[in-house]
Amino acid sequence: MDKTAGVPETLVDAIRYFADPDKSLAFMVELRWPTGVTCPTCGSRFVSFISTRRLCTCREQHPRKQFSVKVGTIFEDSPIALDKWFSAMWMIGSAKNGVSSYEVARGIDVTQKTAWFMMHRIRLAMQRGTFDQFAGEVEADETFIGGKARNMHAIKRAQKITGTGGKDKSAVMGLLERHGPDGHSRVRVKHVANRKRKTLSSEVRAHVAAGSHLYTDALASYNDLSAEFAHEVIDHAESYVRGSVHTNGMENFWSLLKRCIKGTYVSVEPFHLFRYLDEEAYRFNTRKAKDGVRFVDTLRAVVGKRVTYKSLTGKDMLPATT
Ligand SMILES: [Zn+2]
Repeated sequence: MDKTAGVPETLVDAIRYFADPDKSLAFMVELRWPTGVTCPTCGSRFVSFISTRRLCTCREQHPRKQFSVKVGTIFEDSPIALDKWFSAMWMIGSAKNGVSSYEVARGIDVTQKTAWFMMHRIRLAMQRGTFDQFAGEVEADETFIGGKARNMHAIKRAQKITGTGGKDKSAVMGLLERHGPDGHSRVRVKHVANRKRKTLSSEVRAHVAAGSHLYTDALASYNDLSAEFAHEVIDHAESYVRGSVHTNGMENFWSLLKRCIKGTYVSVEPFHLFRYLDEEAYRFNTRKAKDGVRFVDTLRAVVGKRVTYKSLTGKDMLPATT
């Protein structure tokens, strides 16, 4: 059954629709168990539903016989009702330039801290697990994120402006496949330790099929890839485009990413950077999809993914105010 058919089409519709807890539950159950509910512990289909408590009970004998639709998903252990989760997912998925935890907190009436935690769980669902390799025409490029240029001495500032980065900047590498499975370009971005040859070339080898056309700028770190790829270089000191040899797709993505980080996320701790990268990549890669379709796609991905507070922050501490 195609469950995308009855999906609300706008944020306002979604909030109204999912405000009914039975509708939220039915929606989640249909997506998660399209062929009927199975027990997450033993896999049995002999389960009964306690409608007054919106819980299922497995008829086999084992611990944790009672379970909710949230078990084994990013919603597990969360006291937040599904309608708020769904509305938050919708807000994140449909916001073209990102949305802050303050906006989500106001929108669904939870504290900023709660909204922050929910958003990180949702970003986890947006991460794509194992990818197929990019092929055909692929652009590779890097950029730096972060830093506080105005607080630095002039020399250091000049270093940053010339693109040599700095200690408080995070290096990010990106790959763009010009013609992805849906005919449109798609990206993959990653926070990397540095721009050294070993780092960048191993990323290319891991994510791009050998024999692909590879376009990069003149950074020497890409020099040794010419044996495995049809590698062509555009030297930005000379020009930005030479026929199909350019990295303009990747440049376009960097400007979207930086606008999002600057405009919405006041500061991004390096530790959390990958989550924002994933969110922006997800938004870019699904840019041709309707909001409702993207929402269902994200919701499908929440099953089987869990994240604890500790794994989010690296320790038991208060979240950053982003
Ligand atoms: Zn069971």
